[in-house]
Amino acid sequence: MTTIIDGRKIATEIRESLKEEVKTLTSKKGLVPGLAVIIIGEDPASQVYVNMKRKACEQIGLKSFYYPLPASTSKEELLKIISELNQNKEVNGILAQLPLPKHLDENIIINQIDPLKDVDCFHPANIGKIMLGDEDGFYPCTPYGCQELISRTVPDLKGKHLVVVGRSNIVGKPMINMMIQKNKRANCIVTACHTAAKDISYYTKQADILIVAAGRPKTITKEMVKKGVVIIDVGVNRITDPKNASKTKLVGDVDFEEVAPLSSAITPVPGGVGPMTITMLLKNTIKAFKIQHGINL
Ligand code: NAP
Repeated sequence: MTTIIDGRKIATEIRESLKEEVKTLTSKKGLVPGLAVIIIGEDPASQVYVNMKRKACEQIGLKSFYYPLPASTSKEELLKIISELNQNKEVNGILAQLPLPKHLDENIIINQIDPLKDVDCFHPANIGKIMLGDEDGFYPCTPYGCQELISRTVPDLKGKHLVVVGRSNIVGKPMINMMIQKNKRANCIVTACHTAAKDISYYTKQADILIVAAGRPKTITKEMVKKGVVIIDVGVNRITDPKNASKTKLVGDVDFEEVAPLSSAITPVPGGVGPMTITMLLKNTIKAFKIQHGINL
């Protein structure tokens, strides 16, 4: 029997508890945690993500600060805005929606964000903390959401063989570093694979837990997994609907139809990892507020 891991339901449960936490913090401190979202340019997908983030903040009672900037914004202008937000006590978290226009260097912009407000966890200081197992920093929202789904599905992770397909800076690499740590939400034997592998199925077939973040439909087919595997499909790919060529549909990186019956648990796309990502951003913003106000985590 395969469990379909319901990311929407889990995300809703977490958001409900975060809403209560915001109420408590606000009544204790007389302050509302706040997130500043910067968007540069008119990229339609980025606009959608940013609106979802702002709405999610409002739903749980966080203050959201919105900085829509023209695509022509210079590096100096953007760095100045970030410096002001770093100083603004009402703003606990700052995120600059990626991708940035080509003339802006992502690393320079990310490095300007105060690591204590870096709720997207792109700053090298926070990425470094993950590697060191220092839990005072943040986790990047998508891997953090995956970890939440995994630890709810597999309560005893110690010694499980976890295979990650993909090594991007925002998903694969942090995921690998998070799941190798010696703590209850990790402690796995971790294998990372990528396009340099001659045959990734050699690795994926050994997985007790398989996380796929390749960005390509059908990267994982039924011949590539062992029976009983737990699968977290991070991929989001828009394809032509095979049942109706005039329409498109979203699919993950795993061939869900054929792989799901072999797995003990699997995330669907949509409705798996996706809803968790913004939820973990909210969680990080509340964590940032607590750190900045000296409240025990
Ligand atoms: P990315 O930067 O394109 O990285 C893809 C990684 O997968 C690379 O490391 C690449 O290897 C590896 N890869 C690609 N095809 C492979 C194959 N056939 N065999 C082995 N490795 C392969 O992508 P990303 O930003 O990590 O995102 C991955 C997917 O997750 C995308 O579909 C993206 O839309 C989705 N995503 C979803 C969320 C969410 O909230 N649900 C958030 C972020 C991303 P090399 O390094 O060797 O090139």
